[in-house]
Amino acid sequence: MVNIVLFGPPGAGKGTQSENIINKYGLKHISTGDLFRKHLGEGTHLGKKAQSYMDNGKLVPDEVVIGMVADFLDDNEGAEGFIFDGFPRTVAQAEALDELLEEHDQHIHCMVMLDVPQDELRKRLLERGKTSGRADDQNVEKINVRIQEYLDKTLPVAGYYQGQNKTCKINGVGTIEGIFADIVSEIDNHLD
Ligand code: ADP
Repeated sequence: MVNIVLFGPPGAGKGTQSENIINKYGLKHISTGDLFRKHLGEGTHLGKKAQSYMDNGKLVPDEVVIGMVADFLDDNEGAEGFIFDGFPRTVAQAEALDELLEEHDQHIHCMVMLDVPQDELRKRLLERGKTSGRADDQNVEKINVRIQEYLDKTLPVAGYYQGQNKTCKINGVGTIEGIFADIVSEIDNHLD
């Protein structure tokens, strides 16, 4: 059983590296951004609640996100472990995640933090916006709001995991394979 938080600013490469990590460790992937986009596409009540925040690059309120993750964990009882991608994004979400995992007799093993300079993030997001169709990737102002939300609300989550000795910082600039190799060696160091 292994549970990993993949952490980093928008555009750090979390989605790309998630796929590699899932394949190697056989984990269940949970991306709160992907779940919200699915709800949005299906026009659910939850999707409607999240839409205005997402469209403006702001974080969706904690209680909405936490409820969605709680449901996901309940629906995936018996998984080999999880990779949390884009969650937790606030300290309140990190605390709630610890409580939820405890209810399932589990815990986070390691928080992998992808470190990428801001100029590189803006470049990558605008590039992704050309093909992803994501409205929040196509506009510099929205990208700046998302980076600012990350700095204000999400970065403190690194301190939360640091306090538990679970933060591993990885240089997120380089080849996909090279970054993945660094991630694997950090995860393997943190397994029980
Ligand atoms: P990125 O990492 O590229 O910003 P995501 O796909 O992870 O993209 O998230 C897209 C949007 O979904 C965020 O800007 C935010 O509005 C919302 N969102 C996703 N995860 C969370 C979360 N854990 N807490 C609050 N809002 C979230």
